[in-house]
Formats: sequence, structure tokens, C-alpha cells
Amino acid sequence: MIYKRSSALFTEAQKVIPGGVNSPVRAFKAVGGDPIFVKSAKGAYLYDEDGRKLIDYINSWGPMILGHAYPPVVDAVVQKAQKGTSFGMPTEIETEIAALAVSMVPNIDKIRFVNSGTEACMSAVRLARGFTRREKIIKFAGCYHGHSDSFLIQAGSGAVTFGSPNSPGVTEGTAKDTLLANYNDTENVEALFKANPNEIAAIIIEPVAGNMGCIPPAEGFLSRLREICDANNTLLIFDEVMTGFRLAKGGVQELYGVAADIVTFGKVIGGGLPVGAFAARNEIMNHLAPLGPVYQAGTLSGNPLAMAAGLAMLKALNDDPEVFDRLAQKTEYLHKGIQKALIDNGIVHTINRVGSMISVHFAPDAVVNFKTAAHGDNDTFKKFFHGLLEEGIYIAPSAYETWFITDALTYEDLDTTINAVRKVASTL
Ligand code: PMP
Repeated sequence: MIYKRSSALFTEAQKVIPGGVNSPVRAFKAVGGDPIFVKSAKGAYLYDEDGRKLIDYINSWGPMILGHAYPPVVDAVVQKAQKGTSFGMPTEIETEIAALAVSMVPNIDKIRFVNSGTEACMSAVRLARGFTRREKIIKFAGCYHGHSDSFLIQAGSGAVTFGSPNSPGVTEGTAKDTLLANYNDTENVEALFKANPNEIAAIIIEPVAGNMGCIPPAEGFLSRLREICDANNTLLIFDEVMTGFRLAKGGVQELYGVAADIVTFGKVIGGGLPVGAFAARNEIMNHLAPLGPVYQAGTLSGNPLAMAAGLAMLKALNDDPEVFDRLAQKTEYLHKGIQKALIDNGIVHTINRVGSMISVHFAPDAVVNFKTAAHGDNDTFKKFFHGLLEEGIYIAPSAYETWFITDALTYEDLDTTINAVRKVASTL
């Protein structure tokens, strides 16, 4: 048995942690088997507790865009830690990272830091409700905005992997304020506005979806949402927790040229430490306490270690004008290689890709929304996942997730991966 030590650790973990994990998708429930325990990671590779080296396509679900244990981030954290790990008082570095983020992303004047993507999205919606004095929001089926109550309505990612897109514990009162639309379907959105006149505070969207696999916005979809929001005095919230500082310096707003009213961040902005953030223009952000009436707070928000990691990460991305193109080129190379390997073996599939996000769906038709994503053949995915794992390639243990490409991957790593896909495809 290859994963002897991991399995033993998992047995112990299950005694004291629900399901043995602190976030559900880490368990291999969707693909079967026991999760792998990590000992360490460096660059593009994970080293597990059984002494194996794996090429990592998850990268902590997105943050490690420049690879694991990226030296400038590690150095920044180590140096900061020696000066104290939390004060609950203002520090200069918070302004430094805020100013840098505001300079990189279009249409934002101010940013507030929190501790997770969930908190960022939850706070963004509260702010939108406080600003518009309306209560309803629109979200799209299959999009995931963290696990706060309003979002666990037809949610993607782990919520759908584990069959609880509508989680028990979310009250009917909360659920009724979340209206559901289909991704890439503006008629559906228009109908919701007609049925709920002057009631919709915000549309929240993953402007490139990543929690039902990767799904790009159809041509004109985001700009039409912008028009609909403008016509109805509704705020457009781009959840850029995955896409922010990954697809472009300025995220999807820059890449697709569509302006959001509020943008949320997580993952890359924290350089691998627990960080989220939300940002908007002054008019909106000034509604937040202590300036305005909308309350939001956090004991560890703006934590010095987290800010040091995030600042080192953003600086590295900001100082490298080619990083996002380089990432996109690597991802395209991987895409073409995987596609050829699957076609040569007669495997029905669809690959979606935007920048450094990519997903392989074992689905016959284009994957454009939650419904078409769900057409994927899960048995084939399971075999694909375990086959790749045996070859030393680690992808997310669910078909409803995106692969995150890191700049630490070399073309040799990509070739190793493509060859592994070819070998596994011949067994599917
Ligand atoms: N929004 C999006 C788009 C996400 O992908 C995620 C997490 N995968 C979240 C919000 C929630 O972030 P966190 O897990 O940091 O709470």
C-alpha cells in the first residue's frame, strides 16, 4: 500500500476532527480512498507523508501562484514573526498592501482586509445591502462564494461534491433573499429583476467561474450584467477570490473590460496565509464602520504575518510584467497536450481554460453552466484522478474543481503530466 502513513494519520484525524479534515473537499469522498497527508511543499511539488513527490495542480486551491514556499513570501513572514504576530492595532504594512492592491485593480479606491474569502463575500453582500437599502441578492447556480448562509443555495465546489448545495442549517428566511440564476443566461437574470422590482441589492458572480470546474463567461455576458445592474440601481459584485491577482494584475475587470461595484479577494492576495479582502470605490466603502453604519470587524484582520505574505506576493506579481502571460502560455500548452492525449484515446471530454485556470470535464457537450457541468461522467473522473495520482500528479479530488497552474511548473513538469494523462487515458 503506497499511502500507509497517510492512511494511518487519517485514521487518527477522524477520531478528533469531523471526517478527519478541516474543509470537506480535502477528504477523498467524491473519488474514494483516503486523503494524502502533506509533509512539505516546494515550488511545483508536494512531498507527502509516505515519501512521495507529487506535481501539484491545486496549489492550496489557488494561492500558491508562484509555487510553494516562495522565498520572498517565506522570508517576509519569518522576519515579521520575530517582531510579534498580532497586535489588534494599526500597522504600516496594512496601508502598504492596501495601496498596492488599489493601484493594481481598476475601479477601487479602498480595500478592507479580512481573514478568508468567505468573510470577504459575506461582508461585500452586507455592504451592498446597507448601501442600496435592499435585501435580495442574485447568485448563480454552481458558483461558490464561501460558506456563509446566504451563499449555500445551489452552491458549487464542496457543497455540490458532497450533495449539499442547499445546506441544512440555512434558514428559510435567509434562503428566500437569495435568488438563483443560471450562469451565462441573462434572460434568466432579467426575469428575476422583473419579478422583484427595486428589491435586488446586488448580483454576486464568479466572473470566471471556478467552482463547477472552470467556466468562462460567454461573450457579452458580464457586460450585459453590468447594464442590467446600472438600469436597476443594483450593485455588481465580482467574487475574484479565485481570479483576483491570478488572471491579470487587475483580475477579471481588467481581462474582460467590465467594471464591478464591489470586488472580493482571497487566495493569492494572502500569499498562502489566511486572508480575504473586499474593495470598492469611496462612495460605497465609506458606508463601512467606522466611517459609516455597515458593521464589519475582525480580531486578526490585517494580521502582520498575513499582510507580509500578501504584500510580498503582490509585489512579485506587480514587478513581473510577463507573469500572467507566462502562466497562460503554460496552461495552454497543458491544455493542448491533455486534449491530444484524450482524443488519441477516444475519450469524450471538454476542456475549459481561462488564463491559468483549467478543468477537464468528461462531458459530451460544451460546459457553460452548472447543468452542463453536471453532465460530466463521474466514474471516468474518479479513474482519471486515481490514475494520475499513481503517476505522481495531484489534481483536485472532485470534478467540480479547477486546476490552478503555478509559475513554478516547468515545461518538463507539463510534459510529465501530459505523458501521465496519455498513460491513464489508455486505461479509461
Ligand atoms: N469565493 C470563491 C470564488 C471561492 O473559490 C472561494 C473558496 N474556494 C471562496 C469564495 C471562499 O473562500 P474561503 O475558502 O477562503 O473562505
